[in-house]
Amino acid sequence: MAIPPGVSQRDWNAAIGEFRDAVGADWVFTSDEDVALYRDAYSPYWGEPEERLASAAVAPYTVEEVQAVVRIANKYRIPLYPISTGRNLAYGGSAPVYSGSVVVDLKRMNRVLEINERNAYALVEPGVSYFDLYNEIEKRGLALWIDPPDPGWGSVIGNALDGGGGWTAYPFRDHFGAHCGMEVVLPDGEIVRTGMGAVPGSKTWQQNKWGYGPWVDGLFRQGNMGIVTKMGFWLMPRPEAYISATVQVFNDRDIIPLMDTLNLLENQHVVNGSTQLGGAGAFGPAGGGAGPAWTLQLPIYGPEKVIRAQLEYAKEKFSAIDGSRFVEEDLIRIPLSPQDRERVRLVNFGIPNLSTFAMLGRSPMQPSPAGGHIGFSPIIPRDGEELLKFRDFYRTNLAEVTGGENLGIVGPVFMTNWERSLVALIMFPISKNADENRKIRAAFEKWVKLAADNGWAEYRAPTVFQDIISDTYSYNNHALRRMREKIKDALDPNGILAAGRYGVWPKHLREG
Ligand SMILES: Cc1cc2nc3c(=O)[nH]c(=O)nc-3n(C[C@H](O)[C@H](O)[C@H](O)COP(=O)(O)OP(=O)(O)OC[C@H]3O[C@@H](n4cnc5c(N)ncnc54)[C@H](O)[C@@H]3O)c2cc1C
Repeated sequence: MAIPPGVSQRDWNAAIGEFRDAVGADWVFTSDEDVALYRDAYSPYWGEPEERLASAAVAPYTVEEVQAVVRIANKYRIPLYPISTGRNLAYGGSAPVYSGSVVVDLKRMNRVLEINERNAYALVEPGVSYFDLYNEIEKRGLALWIDPPDPGWGSVIGNALDGGGGWTAYPFRDHFGAHCGMEVVLPDGEIVRTGMGAVPGSKTWQQNKWGYGPWVDGLFRQGNMGIVTKMGFWLMPRPEAYISATVQVFNDRDIIPLMDTLNLLENQHVVNGSTQLGGAGAFGPAGGGAGPAWTLQLPIYGPEKVIRAQLEYAKEKFSAIDGSRFVEEDLIRIPLSPQDRERVRLVNFGIPNLSTFAMLGRSPMQPSPAGGHIGFSPIIPRDGEELLKFRDFYRTNLAEVTGGENLGIVGPVFMTNWERSLVALIMFPISKNADENRKIRAAFEKWVKLAADNGWAEYRAPTVFQDIISDTYSYNNHALRRMREKIKDALDPNGILAAGRYGVWPKHLREG
């Protein structure tokens, strides 16, 4: 059994004993076999000395038990790492950032506390998965949708706290953005409710995000300032129908008016679905081939007569691009018919599933899959000129980054699914082969630096790269990180909680 760094055997034994008293002996995991379940299956350091590993895990069932765990950790200076369902594959899985941490596994806290159809929200605990919330809504026959990410087995809270997103309409697919109110156990064991939740007897905790005074919820997104034990989310009223069309343009530089038109339509909320950009312009040879240079899929959700008019308006706007084609698709009524359910991508219809993992499996296209992947996700401006600049930057630097070897890197995929900006995703295969992973790590680190030289930086990252990316947010001698460190030191003076998450280290570990 591993012991957290700096903790004596005697204190460790005492802490484990007290964790057992607090949550029940069955819910403290110390055997190698049990602790191995918290390894990150997609770790870029799999099997190497730098792999981030837990020392033990503890699974509380109530908020009071979470408080007790935190207090014990303070007493013995035990580093903790809270997870909800711990399925953060591609961003660290359920392994801690700081090796030797005790994972606080919240999956037993899986109560759906409230679903309100009239005001379209839910209040949940961390262990509630997208499948759980979906099933509860279905069971009660409510006219509400959830917004699942590609893998439906994750936690509604955990995904939001890592900055995750989904595939239905805005604003619901920005998961942290769609939250309203949280309950947090602070590193000293105190419970705080944010927003209107701070008012005793409040009736609007899930209806007004801001409450009164400085807004603190952002401290817990990609943060390490507390353990979130409840969180509210705004849900989408089940739409009547879905309509979509694909715009095709045939010249590489048509991406410029294409993006300008898309921006207008999205900023007007005429197009509200998760649009998809494709075509030879992104992946094909420079100069393009015979097919469209760019294709843009435009999904719209809402009442049938309204979305038909919205699509008509979008068509009119895109017709201003010379030579463009606008291909309309059939309107789909909701709830889905069994036939439609067979042919659509379910996450676009609020239905959680796990089909995304087929992408990583063995197939004729991929006879020996690596098994895992990680993503490099810089945010770039939402305009066609910048998009071309990034595409050309990728093509120009690929050989230098990979040393001319084919490492199976795929990119860039321009993700239009966040509002106002683009994500220029580059995907890297991750395997259990240390030599291959070493090359991938070197390539990833080079992309981080090259992108930063151009003013681009990532919005989310695998745990092992969180420090180097935090380094790129360096304005005014890292003033933002220094401010976060001051807050961290004030809230968590013993530095017990999620040390190092997204580049914020407690005082005693900063010097190292
Ligand atoms: C093929 C594939 C497709 C994917 N597609 C998507 C996608 O479409 N969208 C997307 O967003 N992601 C996607 N992911 C990434 C990831 O799998 C999901 O984001 C997943 O939902 C995250 O795991 P989780 O929900 O179990 O969160 P957790 O692992 O429970 O939490 C994530 C992190 O948040 C923190 N945390 C969690 N709970 C708490 C808490 N209660 N208090 C304090 N801190 C906490 C911890 O640091 C934790 O490590 C994909 C991954 C793969 C492999």
